[in-house]
Amino acid sequence: MSQSAHAQHFAPPDARSDGRLNLIGLSRAELEAEVAGMGEPAFRAKQLWQWLYHHGAEDFEAMTSLSKAFRERLGEYYVATRPGVAVHSKSVDGTQKWLLAFTDGNEAEAVHIPESDRGTLCVSSQVGCTLTCRFCHTGTQRLVRNLSPGEIVGQVMLARDALEEWPSPKADRQLTNIVMMGMGEPLYNFDNVAQALRIVMDPHGMAIGRRRITLSTSGVVPMMERCGAELGVNLAVSLHAVTDELRDELVPLNRKYPIAGLLRACREYPGVHNARRITFEYVMLKGVNDSDTDARALARLLKDIPAKVNLIPFNPWPGSAYECSSPERIERFADLLAAANLSAPVRAPRGRDIMAACGQLKSESERKRKTERDAAAG
Ligand code: SAH
Ligand code: SF4
Repeated sequence: MSQSAHAQHFAPPDARSDGRLNLIGLSRAELEAEVAGMGEPAFRAKQLWQWLYHHGAEDFEAMTSLSKAFRERLGEYYVATRPGVAVHSKSVDGTQKWLLAFTDGNEAEAVHIPESDRGTLCVSSQVGCTLTCRFCHTGTQRLVRNLSPGEIVGQVMLARDALEEWPSPKADRQLTNIVMMGMGEPLYNFDNVAQALRIVMDPHGMAIGRRRITLSTSGVVPMMERCGAELGVNLAVSLHAVTDELRDELVPLNRKYPIAGLLRACREYPGVHNARRITFEYVMLKGVNDSDTDARALARLLKDIPAKVNLIPFNPWPGSAYECSSPERIERFADLLAAANLSAPVRAPRGRDIMAACGQLKSESERKRKTERDAAAG
């Protein structure tokens, strides 16, 4: 399916659904055009931007540097709202998950993972995913559409609301990093993801730098160059297998973009050098991709790429066909990579008690609908 066909079929709903336009997610140029359309001078757009993204203001009344008349007119035509929250859960380990409810009733998830030296927000790019990786729960969800820029930026704003991180703090942030590793394939929704990330990176707003943002792709090769050139964010690639035969099965997109071409695009990723390595994600599946031979082959494949490997313990979900490798196997696999000078931290699963871990994200409503279907089918 071509990119444009994707965009058409999976377009988000109109942001004007309540009659007023949501300003969250408009690019700087779009916001300037709205302000100019109201007959206001250009510097008002800059002030408004700072209220929205530096102070996190939702209510125009609070924007006290703007004239009362302008604030009133803003309230008549616009809103500055975040996605609705259907469920907010907090894990015993401090991980928080939001099940977001969008205006058209669709849902997606965002997860905040606090650590001693950082706090990472895992952001969704689509409702569901059109790809069908065999080990991924999101890939079994039927309903799919792209998220709009506002729905993507809104996830970051919502987390900052909950963490009470307004105005944007310079230091000691609880939300320091963003990973596009929630639901969906971000490079199948590149334009909206790019617009959202530009807003998130803007130094006069949330000011989260590109070095603190990582976009994870299952390997949409033709879009990788643009991602590096236009956004300059870190790249993570979901590799998961060292042969095309196995990767065809685990990550069906491999049939379209096999390993050799994927690794070539990694070598050519703009800005890739030793200080900014590409992360290769590798889900540990017992007896499937976790042998010593696999580890050695992985090290060979990556030997001329500035790379690190993220070994992800497989997170099982109801009905999944795989088991997670044993801790000893994972350790051995990591040791073999280390022996070949590949750093391979094992990503400790977080928020397991609230189903917040990688690949488990699937909307509640979809789960409920499936339960109902199953019940009806008897
Ligand atoms: N679609 C993108 C980003 C979202 S998935 C991608 O595939 O890269 C984020 C990461 O979680 C990917 O590496 C994905 O392969 C991994 N993942 C999916 N299901 C998983 C599961 N059940 N257990 C562990 N990791 C999983
Ligand atoms: Fe989609 Fe990523 Fe899940 Fe594959 S692993 S189905 S690309 S979300």
